[in-house]
Amino acid sequence: MTVHTGPVSETARTDREPQGLHLPQFAERQSLRQQVAHALRAALVAGEMRPGVLYSAPMLAEKFGVSATPVREAMLDLTGEGLVEPVRNKGFRVTELSERDLDEITSLRTLIEVPTVAEVARRMDDELRPQVEALREGAREIEILAVRRDLIAYVEADRRFHLALLDLAGNRHLVSVIANLRARSRLYGLQRLADRGELGASAREHEQIIDLVLRGDAEGVAALMERHIGHVRGTWAGRGERRAAVDSGSSAG
Ligand SMILES: [Zn+2]
Repeated sequence: MTVHTGPVSETARTDREPQGLHLPQFAERQSLRQQVAHALRAALVAGEMRPGVLYSAPMLAEKFGVSATPVREAMLDLTGEGLVEPVRNKGFRVTELSERDLDEITSLRTLIEVPTVAEVARRMDDELRPQVEALREGAREIEILAVRRDLIAYVEADRRFHLALLDLAGNRHLVSVIANLRARSRLYGLQRLADRGELGASAREHEQIIDLVLRGDAEGVAALMERHIGHVRGTWAGRGERRAAVDSGSSAG
């Protein structure tokens, strides 16, 4: 990126700009837009935002406690990613994904993520070790969020953990492909899992993944990653329930 993230204090003396404050403000707003976009993607994945419901920027802005502008901008990002569709003068609607879409996305994630994490384990050395160990804090955060049943924060923390782990394999394009696939996943069963207190088991797997990678256990971590991504498939088993809830009108679920 060529965009400066802050004022350059050394050169500011010789090359003075009349609007010195403009740059940090711009950077700040960019990050707010990104933060809102991440939160919206997580809300989509967690099923907090559903297809068939109209979402307006002012309504979401109120929910996030921000102004409508960064929400509108974030929604444009999501529109570009095909995650939402604009509804003229009204807002946005979440793009519907079929069960086949979701199955295909999970297959792709398994094909890419399982061998990539195994590869990181296989390459374990003194240089890689502290980088893997650094992910432990994020793994614990996921567990705390599972206990708190904060699903949007859970999905976002889970996203950060897995992308950081994959990033250690050194292929940036792979990381961006997985980020895109994850944004297209839908975990409608998360709420039900959380209500039953079963989210913690999946959350605890993150530290197990770290331990297996640190041990250089490529086969072990491949098996665990396959199960872990498999939970995703299981967690939208809630879709049968969702249909029942739609058919019977409002539901207490
Ligand atoms: Zn995970």
